[in-house]
Amino acid sequence: QLKAIDLWVHMVDSYRHKGMRRQLVKLVESKGIKDQRVLAAIGRIPRHFFFENAFLEHAYEDKAFPIGAGQTISQPYTVAFQSELLNIKPGDKVLEIGTGSGYQAIVLLELGADVFTIEYQKELYLRTKSFLPKMGYSPNFFYGDGSKGLERFAPYDKIIVTAGAPTVPDSLIDQLKVGGSLVIPVGNAKTQQMLRINKVTEKKISSESFHDFKFVPLLGDKGWK
Ligand code: SAM
Repeated sequence: QLKAIDLWVHMVDSYRHKGMRRQLVKLVESKGIKDQRVLAAIGRIPRHFFFENAFLEHAYEDKAFPIGAGQTISQPYTVAFQSELLNIKPGDKVLEIGTGSGYQAIVLLELGADVFTIEYQKELYLRTKSFLPKMGYSPNFFYGDGSKGLERFAPYDKIIVTAGAPTVPDSLIDQLKVGGSLVIPVGNAKTQQMLRINKVTEKKISSESFHDFKFVPLLGDKGWK
């Protein structure tokens, strides 16, 4: 299990880290990410702050890594891809389902979003809620089952699901504003296709599908049992 103190040990952002981050940004860009605001955010955020000692050397590889509680920090390319699809405008109210390490939430904050983020694993919720403010970031944190969304603060301009869902939960579409969109990976246990669902009117949606990814499962009421 990760302790908060382990995370503090690495909170030095050296020239070496910055150099590795520049390389990571180039790599993510070479894989097809075009949104310069997203790339700049990845270039600013010290990803190694989220890594425990054993994995520290891997912080700037384009890979997902364990963060405790059987969960992972998403691959940077995946974070960039979902962020690009969301097309965040400053001031957008965004719900993130699956806070995890908080890295994706920070990218959204860097893009100017007002972020509401919900996590199912209490250990991760508590750790990330205490850690992010130490980095100077304070999204609105919630603990619970986000597979049903977060009705209390709906509607949202954008919703992002960072775990693989078996189907698109209706409640997430209900909690979108007209003109808003939901970015969600949907599939089986092995692979999930990235979908962007746009709420065209109160009654009409349009859907776009992109390539496959591999996420940890979305749990809870509308997730995997
Ligand atoms: N956005 C995270 C990050 O940047 O580190 C990604 C974390 S991981 C790929 C997905 C997260 O979704 C895990 O932390 C997992 O516990 C969480 N999760 C799974 N099912 C959930 C649910 N029903 N509600 C909220 N969070 C959930």
